Amino acid sequence: MELDNVSTIMSRDVITLSPNETLLSAIIKMNKNNVSCIVIVKDNKPEGILTERDIIYLKGNNIDFNLVDLKTVMRSPVIAVSEDTDIPEIANLMVINGLRRLVVVDNNHKVTGIVTQTDIIKNLRIDSFVNLKKVEQIMNRTIISVSEEEPLTKAISLMSENKISCVVVKKDSKPIGIITERNITKAIAENITPVYISEIMDTKLITASKDINLYEATRLIDENMVRCLIITDDKGDSIGIITKSDIIKNLRADYITILKNMLRQKSRALVESELKYRTLVEQSLEGIMIIQDGIIKFINPTLLKILDYYQKDMLGEDILRFLYPDSRALFSENLKKLESDKSIDSPLEIRMLSKNNKGLHMEVLLTQIPYEGKTGVLVTFRDITERKKAEAELKRLVITDDLTGLFNQRYFYTIIVKEIERAKRHNRQLSLMLIDIDFFKDFNDRYGHWEGDFVLKRIADIISKSIRDIDMAFRYGGEEFTILLPETQYDEAIIVAERIRKSVSETVFHPFTLDGELEIVKKTVSIGLTELSPYDDMKSFVVRADNAMYQAKKSGRNKIVHLL
Ligand code: GH3
Ligand code: MG
Ligand code: MG
Repeated sequence: MELDNVSTIMSRDVITLSPNETLLSAIIKMNKNNVSCIVIVKDNKPEGILTERDIIYLKGNNIDFNLVDLKTVMRSPVIAVSEDTDIPEIANLMVINGLRRLVVVDNNHKVTGIVTQTDIIKNLRIDSFVNLKKVEQIMNRTIISVSEEEPLTKAISLMSENKISCVVVKKDSKPIGIITERNITKAIAENITPVYISEIMDTKLITASKDINLYEATRLIDENMVRCLIITDDKGDSIGIITKSDIIKNLRADYITILKNMLRQKSRALVESELKYRTLVEQSLEGIMIIQDGIIKFINPTLLKILDYYQKDMLGEDILRFLYPDSRALFSENLKKLESDKSIDSPLEIRMLSKNNKGLHMEVLLTQIPYEGKTGVLVTFRDITERKKAEAELKRLVITDDLTGLFNQRYFYTIIVKEIERAKRHNRQLSLMLIDIDFFKDFNDRYGHWEGDFVLKRIADIISKSIRDIDMAFRYGGEEFTILLPETQYDEAIIVAERIRKSVSETVFHPFTLDGELEIVKKTVSIGLTELSPYDDMKSFVVRADNAMYQAKKSGRNKIVHLL
């Protein structure tokens, strides 16, 4: 079989942006050009990539699209291939790395195009080996679905959790539409904030019989310009769903078969192609390892470099030795599962230890392969340590109040619901405190907002220092704070409250007046305190704390009032 190279099938219309542009500008550009990914470049060299899937993930994490720049959220490094790479190798790289597209570069490593799964399926003359398989053999039998009245956030979290590109929308258990990554990015780009799924779903649903083959399925997907097909049985009931990714995943096994057949013929061209394949593995940006019965048989240079080991340190060793204790069980479990399932579709996240004891987060894919006459497991590793750090930092930003460093109001509402639930479930106490600064408007009016902010910060520090490790303090409003005290009843909570009240009232603030004079000012706070009762919901709980605080104001301020 003649092997075409990627330059014949790639698309040369790549949309690029610089790393300093905002996430929102990327979304708008993607939507305008109707593409599903954007390449982030510096001097036209690929620095990172951002796809619709990443956007869905970030959306699920409440990221402010206008503030975050691309270099913070892009996926990096980029797996780039040269223009003369064979198409089967491209397919293989996509499968190994779990990618739906690869960036194509020229000899100077400058971006010249992008190649997608679709391009491959259309051009690999797949018909010759895919048309034997029926969709029923590879479709997903669980259709992940939502009801049309459910909020869009539900669909987004289902997509992120299950790493899927579309969710079926049902009404009275009948599929009536589909919601895809594209629908969601489009809404973000157009600044529509849909609440319900029905507002932006696609009502175009293509169904196909379980008996059609993969080639026909690909054609249906392309002709109808959809992301997936709903598969029905003889009675017309939906029994599964199939996406383009599912089809390409299947290519891998077929590709290996082809490669084996080719090697049997031992023609010179094929030996060359096999050599190229080896080079690809050796030079891959991904870490690649082959293990047999848990023992390391092969490691590529990239993985050695990531882990800072020499080949002799790792060959012949038990793979588990290089994993964090808490990742070992997960890894072994999946190796076992592999014996029956042949491949595991969703990547695992494990932690590894480098030679110099640096902890690394890795995304790992396992595939069963024949190796030296026995079965082996091909393990690919992607170092996601930086991404994990960026995610943790983003999460921190999302839940923190900038000025005071306390948790913000949005996070208060997330946590209080969880804590109420937990307290009720385990029959435990939960106390809530609401703190408001006394006569703060007067202070602002006299010394200015900037000095006011300074006082806010100082009081937030006092609060942080006064609470215990298990308590959580939030900036609830402009100059109002809340504290959640789990497993705490009145006698302990009042001690914390009194510590805060006293400490604030004894603190001397030194604001400057407009004419530069240093003054000595003391501030006080009023505190409302209450405990969760079995009849409370979030609203009644917070309202009672608020009423208590209001009574503290009425009874002269610088007071603590407790309401049951
Ligand atoms: P009291 O609570 O004792 O009844 O009087 P107050 O003057 O503090 O009244 P209230 O709590 O209603 O006032 C809120 C004031 O807090 C309004 C505004 O001047 C000030 N404030 C709110 N948020 C901020 C902020 O972020 N920075 C600064 N500097 N001031 C703020
Ligand atoms: Mg107030
Ligand atoms: Mg106040």
